[in-house]
Amino acid sequence: MNANYIAGAWTEGVRAYRNINPSDTRDVIGEYAVADRAQALQAVAAARAAAPAWGLSTPQQRFDLLDTVGSEILARKAELGDLLAREEGKTLPEAIGEVARAGSIFKFFAGEALRPGGEAVASVRPGVGVEVTREPVGVVGLITPWNFPIAIPAWKIAPALAWGNCVVFKPAEVVPGCAWALAEILSRALAQAGAPAGVFNLVMGRGSEVGAVLLEDGRVDAVSFTGSVATGQRVAQACVSRGAKVQLEMGGKNPFVVLDDADLGVAVAAAVNSGFFSTGQRCTASSRLIVTDGIHDRFVQAVAERMKTLRVDDARKPGTDIGPVVDEHQLAQDVKYIGIGRDEGARLLAGGEVIERNPDGAPGFYLRPALFTDTTAAMRINREEIFGPVVSVLRAKDYDEALALANDTPFGLASGIATTSLKHATHFKRHAQAGMVMVNLPTAGVDYHVPFGGRKGSSYGPREQGRHAAEFYTTVKTAYTQA
Ligand code: NAD
Repeated sequence: MNANYIAGAWTEGVRAYRNINPSDTRDVIGEYAVADRAQALQAVAAARAAAPAWGLSTPQQRFDLLDTVGSEILARKAELGDLLAREEGKTLPEAIGEVARAGSIFKFFAGEALRPGGEAVASVRPGVGVEVTREPVGVVGLITPWNFPIAIPAWKIAPALAWGNCVVFKPAEVVPGCAWALAEILSRALAQAGAPAGVFNLVMGRGSEVGAVLLEDGRVDAVSFTGSVATGQRVAQACVSRGAKVQLEMGGKNPFVVLDDADLGVAVAAAVNSGFFSTGQRCTASSRLIVTDGIHDRFVQAVAERMKTLRVDDARKPGTDIGPVVDEHQLAQDVKYIGIGRDEGARLLAGGEVIERNPDGAPGFYLRPALFTDTTAAMRINREEIFGPVVSVLRAKDYDEALALANDTPFGLASGIATTSLKHATHFKRHAQAGMVMVNLPTAGVDYHVPFGGRKGSSYGPREQGRHAAEFYTTVKTAYTQA
């Protein structure tokens, strides 16, 4: 654990990071290596050196590598899920589900390695043939957040390797455990595949130090980043200024519209799931419930009733619905926004209390999910991403106003609606300003084989996941031949 993976070797860090369980802060998961700038530069050099050979590896080699990694992740999903729940704080079933998703992503991209595609096109000139093919980008820097500590790394690393790129991976500081475990699996699979040293590198450490190298070093051809808007903007500026390819997935303020004709049970289940599960720490979480007049009071009451039944407790205990907030810093942010909501005149209908110890007496970063009503679109709690289990309700007089409120945000990741009207569902799918639209489903929870991403302030650059990931991880070549 106390090592980064650089140029095919485990290399001691310059410092150690103490990984703490947010469900019980007395529980130290381990001491993990922290790299410095020099080690990040070594990782970039190693990736650069490996790029020509790996770029010419066969689809079979890449399939075998990714398929092996996917199989091992799936076989160990209970153990890795336990680690994930212990370090990030989502519940054990959610954590095991995330690990399974990571395994399936590796399997999916193993298949993609065998389907490189390409086009043979008739030339406009006589006797000339045209071929359009895709080639690897080269060296990619991958920077990930803490809230999906294995799935997000998987959905960047797997397509990068599948299409013949070399990787320098910098995970979020607070979740080194899953990153290290994934790198360990990859290191063995790479050795078994006979891949050159440097194809995959893990450098754990600070964003401003290790991450900055990936943004600035001219040997890194492309950077894929998932995280906050503020960091994303910095990443984009640095990459664009030196002409590196860049892809950003950032925040959300996702709306979930509930119309008068909705099935109340479906609407409540979807709202509670996407608002509060995973402690509200999903970029696709619904943080704005936009409810039309005719169902507003019944819906709010039913959500508040359901909230009373949610068990906030240790992430790994059977029966826990909501685990702790990831760390002290995020808990302070959630509490700050609950205060802002109150000061803005919103009504805190339910929850919002910090719980210092769980029912077993363990100290952790627990927060009872909070529901605000009587809010307006201009309030900061409806405009800024909180990234915790804090949800607000906005009242709308009809569908048109609800749609306008849903789109009244600087973000555009996911947008949902609960309705039994085909007309409104169809209109909403067309007019919601978001990269992903859900009808009678939670805004959080997506398939692994189709594109993922948003619009407006939520995303920048090509989509991730599914076959569309090729737009970022490959570059197109057009070749002309005179026979
Ligand atoms: P963050 O922006 O603080 O950090 C993300 C990553 O960037 C970390 O690895 C961090 O070390 C690194 N970083 C920080 N400063 C850097 C710098 N100067 N140069 C290079 N790298 C740097 O985000 P976070 O708190 O880890 O994650 C939460 C955020 O992620 C939320 O805003 C959430 O919405 C977003 N998120 C978005 C998606 C999506 O797909 N849209 C998915 C998950 C999370």
